Amino acid sequence: MPQKPLPYGKQWISDEDIGSVVEVLRSEWLTTGPKVHEFEEAFAAVAGTREAVAVSNGTAALHCAMYALGIGPGDEVIVPAMTFAATANCVVYQGGTPVFADVRPEDLLLDPESVESRITPNTRAVIAVDYAGHPCDYAALRRVTERRGLALVADACHAIGGSYRGKPVGSLADLSTFSFHPVKHITTGEGGAISTDDTQFASRMRTFRNHGITSDHRQRAQQGTWFYEMVALGYNYRLTDFQCALGLAQLKHLQGWVARRQQIARCYDTSLTGLSSLTPLRVSAEVNHAYHLYVVQLKLEGSETARNEVFAKFREAGIGVQVHYIPVHLHPFYRERFQTAPGLCPIAEAAYQRILSLPIFPAMDDRDVERVIEVAHAVCTPA
Ligand SMILES: *Cc1c(COP(=O)(O)O)cnc(C)c1O
Repeated sequence: MPQKPLPYGKQWISDEDIGSVVEVLRSEWLTTGPKVHEFEEAFAAVAGTREAVAVSNGTAALHCAMYALGIGPGDEVIVPAMTFAATANCVVYQGGTPVFADVRPEDLLLDPESVESRITPNTRAVIAVDYAGHPCDYAALRRVTERRGLALVADACHAIGGSYRGKPVGSLADLSTFSFHPVKHITTGEGGAISTDDTQFASRMRTFRNHGITSDHRQRAQQGTWFYEMVALGYNYRLTDFQCALGLAQLKHLQGWVARRQQIARCYDTSLTGLSSLTPLRVSAEVNHAYHLYVVQLKLEGSETARNEVFAKFREAGIGVQVHYIPVHLHPFYRERFQTAPGLCPIAEAAYQRILSLPIFPAMDDRDVERVIEVAHAVCTPA
C-alpha cells in the first residue's frame, strides 16, 4: 500500500491546545480581549524584548514594521533576493522601493558586503531574513547599518526559538517579524507578531493594526465611552482572542519542538554526508539554528533541469520536498514595476537552480526521517 505523502512542514495541535481555544470561544471576548495582551507578553518573553505586537499574519507584521519606521515614497529598503515575496512586498505597500541584495553561497543568508554595495542616499532600512531558521550575521549587519544610520529589521518568520551569540531571535534587530502560519514553528492558523524594545514603535503598530484608531473596543467599554479618534490611516490587522489562546498554548511546546527539529537535522547531517551530489547549508558555530527548513544544494550538472528531476523523484517516492525560494526579483511583478532582471543577484539565482528543502517538522517520527534518508540515497546515488 502506498504510504501517505510526507509534507515538508506541518503543524502539531495537542488536545490541550484545542481546549484553550474552546475556552475562549465560550468566553465574552472573541477579539480585542484579554488573550491578546497575554499572548503578547508571553511572546515578548520568548523573543527577549520589552514589547510584542500580535497581528493577523506575518505579512501584516512586516507591513507594521515598515509603517513604524515611517517608510514612504522615495525611500529604499534593502532586502535579500532569497526570501518569500512578502519580505519585499511590505516595502511596496508603503510606497517605498525594495532594493535586492545578494546572499552568501554557503548559507544563503543576506551578505553584508552586498548590502553595503546597495546603499544610496535614499536607503532607510535593511530587512535581514533568517533563512531556513539560521539567524543572520547580525554583528556584521549592525556594523553596516550603524555606520550609515539605517534601521535594521529581522524577518524572523523562520527562526523563533533560535539564537545568535546567546541572544534570542526577536532581540537581534530594531524590529523582528514573525508568522504563525501552520508550516511555521508555532501556529495560530494565520497570525503574526513584531517584537521590539522600542515602546514608541509598539504603540504606533498597535494603532496601525486597528484602523489607525488609538483606543480599542475593550478600552472604550472599560471607560464607558463611545468616543474614539482615527489619527492615521491604518488597517484591520488584529489577531483574535481564540487565535492568541492557541498561540499561548503553542508557545509552551516551542523549546521541545525546536530541539526535535535540531535532532532531525543532525540525522540528515550525518546520513547525507556520504552523498557527493548533495550538500547541506553551512551552519555557523555562533548560532542556535531553529530549522524551519532543512535545505540542501544539489551538485548536479545541468543544474535546474537536474534539480527538477530529483524533485520529481522525491515526490514520486512520497517525499514532499519543496523549493524555497524563487528569487523575488525574478517575479514578473518586480521585473515590470522595478525593472529587475536576471544577473542582479547571481548567487541567489544560481542557488535557486540547485536547492531543495527536505521535510522537517516536530511531528515526524524516526521512521519518517529514515524514509527521507532512504529516498535521498536512492535518488542521489548515481546508477
Ligand atoms: C511565512 C513568511 C512570511 C509571511 O508570513 P504569512 O504569515 O504567511 O503572511 C514572510 N516572510 C517569510 C520569510 C516567511 O517565511
